[in-house]
Amino acid sequence: MTGYAVIDPSTEQQIATVELASVEQTDAAVAAAVRAFPGWRDVAPGERARLLRRFAQLVDDHLDELADLEVSNAGHPIGNARWEAGNVRDVLNYYSAAPERLFGKQIPVPGGVDITFREPLGVVGVIVPWNFPMPIAGWGFAPALAAGNCVVLKPAESTPLTALRLAELAREAGIGEGVFTVLPGAGPVVGRRLVEHPDIAKINFTGSTRVGKTILAGCADQVKRCTLELGGKSANVIFADADLERAAASAPDAVFDNSGQDCCARSRILVQASVFDRFLELLEPAVRAVRVGDPRDPATAMGPLISAEHRDRVRGYLDDADIAYTGSAPDGPGYWMPPTVITTTSTADRRWREEIFGPVVSVLPFTDEADAIRLANDSDYGLAGSIFTSDLGRGLRVSRAIRAGNLSVNSHSAVRYWTPFGGYKQSGLGRELGPDAADAYTEEKNVFIADS
Ligand code: NAD
Repeated sequence: MTGYAVIDPSTEQQIATVELASVEQTDAAVAAAVRAFPGWRDVAPGERARLLRRFAQLVDDHLDELADLEVSNAGHPIGNARWEAGNVRDVLNYYSAAPERLFGKQIPVPGGVDITFREPLGVVGVIVPWNFPMPIAGWGFAPALAAGNCVVLKPAESTPLTALRLAELAREAGIGEGVFTVLPGAGPVVGRRLVEHPDIAKINFTGSTRVGKTILAGCADQVKRCTLELGGKSANVIFADADLERAAASAPDAVFDNSGQDCCARSRILVQASVFDRFLELLEPAVRAVRVGDPRDPATAMGPLISAEHRDRVRGYLDDADIAYTGSAPDGPGYWMPPTVITTTSTADRRWREEIFGPVVSVLPFTDEADAIRLANDSDYGLAGSIFTSDLGRGLRVSRAIRAGNLSVNSHSAVRYWTPFGGYKQSGLGRELGPDAADAYTEEKNVFIADS
């Protein structure tokens, strides 16, 4: 094991040292999960449901503690961090209904009876990024556990604290040893070993497209099941017939939430040319009003970036950029950056094409509906998108034409635990959340019984 210094990105102070696991410790955690699997699989469905609800209740009881921990570890504003802890509770409650509803089918066939069963996969590896440490962990472990799998979860190196606390709460809820293990570690050590380990039946990976491609290749060797939630460069398309005040007022949050470190960030704003100048005028006060600063202050909307290295990488995108205006940011300590709006004329501009993962948004004009669709789709990514228009027929047409997994009309809603979430193109593979997520942690087995 090696010690990793966990830093509060709003103060630059070390808040904890976490031991990073080795390959041998990863193997030991997987072995413990393999041992625990038959027992957890065979827990009566109603009892598994009760344990998940008890876990959810403990998350609720410790909501303030979990939120405070995330404020310190990830720099998330306290209001956001409370929502994130509440999301884990809600997702656990939602999937607590799954154990008693993992239905098979009876299929009419000649010569006998045909039935299907939903069986858990075994041990699932969940690999989590640093941007939303709690919710993304929950979207993986809640449906996986509900379907009767054991889980070994690797948080990002820099943000392990809330996941470690969630594992303690699971134990306190009565979920047995080895059923849900959190193993902090380096991606190329623990993450890689989970991908390669023959006893891991599925990998649920959320992170960058670059690493996601190596995960997919690693899984291919054993035809391991895998869900990938990767990067994004989502479009916010604003038509001339939209309520421009509403579109401008909501655009900053859609990209600067979590300091732009959000896979669904609407980091490309497309505005119909006839209202382009007016929209930029309306956007400016909304951007300047974004309150950036102390994440412990409930009035704060935007905290720091996760690290100095990441902030410097994001700043690098602003060299030679055509900056329209910026908001404010504290001087330091802390890894601050102001919300920044840049205008673009070329879709070849790397700021238009690449996921910056910081508080930077590019704005570009379009001519008509066909042009808007063409520009929105001119991306390797396809995770989310928003369309602002007063013509609902157009809203539906454009939503259907944009090749992305999560579109919203006159809103920026993308992640709701009741509905499926995931990417087209290089934004991912498979879906999480929604009514079918527990099924994604099962194999469907078919059994035929001859009637004579
Ligand atoms: P990352 O790819 O660097 O790391 C993600 C996780 O993978 C971390 O736990 C890391 O330790 C681990 N990892 C790194 N190398 C590995 C390897 N070789 N084998 C196995 N695991 C490895 O991503 P990040 O910088 O932590 O997160 C930011 C990225 O995540 C952005 O691209 C963002 O868009 C994406 N993201 C996507 C979603 C989504 O739902 N689509 C949600 C949040 C974040």
